[in-house]
Amino acid sequence: MTIPSGFNAIVGQQHAIRLLKTFIRKGTLPHALLFTGDDGVGKKTTATAFAMACNCLTLEAAIRHHPRLDAIEACGKCIPCRKIAGNHHPDVIHVNPLSSIIKISQIRTLLQTLTLKPNEAHRRVVILSEAQAMNAQASNALLKVLEEPPDRTLLVLTARRSADLLATVVSRCRQIRFFPLSTADVRRLLARADGIEPEFVETAAALCGGSFTRAQQLADSRWLSRRDWIIRAMDDRMTDEGTSPVRAWLALSEILAKKKDLVEESLEIITMWLRDLLVVRHDPQRIVNQDRLDMLSATAKHVSPVQLLKQIDAVDRAKTALRSNTNARLTLDAMVLRMAGPNIR
Ligand SMILES: [Zn+2]
Repeated sequence: MTIPSGFNAIVGQQHAIRLLKTFIRKGTLPHALLFTGDDGVGKKTTATAFAMACNCLTLEAAIRHHPRLDAIEACGKCIPCRKIAGNHHPDVIHVNPLSSIIKISQIRTLLQTLTLKPNEAHRRVVILSEAQAMNAQASNALLKVLEEPPDRTLLVLTARRSADLLATVVSRCRQIRFFPLSTADVRRLLARADGIEPEFVETAAALCGGSFTRAQQLADSRWLSRRDWIIRAMDDRMTDEGTSPVRAWLALSEILAKKKDLVEESLEIITMWLRDLLVVRHDPQRIVNQDRLDMLSATAKHVSPVQLLKQIDAVDRAKTALRSNTNARLTLDAMVLRMAGPNIR
């Protein structure tokens, strides 16, 4: 199977692609671009497609005949295209955070490289990902390149939001916004990805908030089994007519607290479930856990909207408390006692 590359492989982001193609067609390439948008929406893939289009020999020849915008695409076959797609072109330089930080030493190495002429590229492209990971020192060092861009060199920075970067860096870049992907787009990408079970595609696409990276994590069967376990546990407690609901709620807290690194994710799952229980009786189309519609409709009959709102509030409080490093077990105990609410006995 050929791995799709180039602009045609990018799903969604028509606005960004159209702009980049226009730059290439007119030959008016800014020295520095800043791609902003959530994680997992295609910023880095687009940067690579852009580097290919800037160096493709076939496209270079075609540009002289003023092609239509939709024909601005790298061929994927010439030597520069293949080297860039295979991630071994000497003049397409990637700078990525190391342990979540882009260090000043990485920027110094980059500056050193940029004092030399490109090895073979028509246009050298630097892809600096997650630019918000630069500290002030690293950002200031980068400014030098942004102020005096080297010959035949383009910089592409990616970041979640421009507000996370130094204003002096942002003002020297042409900003291009990337938007969350639609559910249909994520569904298409998941169908194309390896190792995703078809039965998980719908749920992951609905829950990912427009991020393909997030969708891939969600489609991981471990996340889904965790969700299924949590919603079953919640359901048992909310529909239980038995004699010791508090004991059952506390047992849930104990299990949740054991997996410390997953607590935040578990609370997200609980919030999503409670929200669905609120919504399902009014607008079943808008629930997130579409694959559990029957279970949601049945449980919603056992619990009042007022109680659900109180439970959502209890989970929110726990999330806030956990962010300030409180004892997880105590926080979760308090949360489940609030959630048990009027059933306490
Ligand atoms: Zn090519």
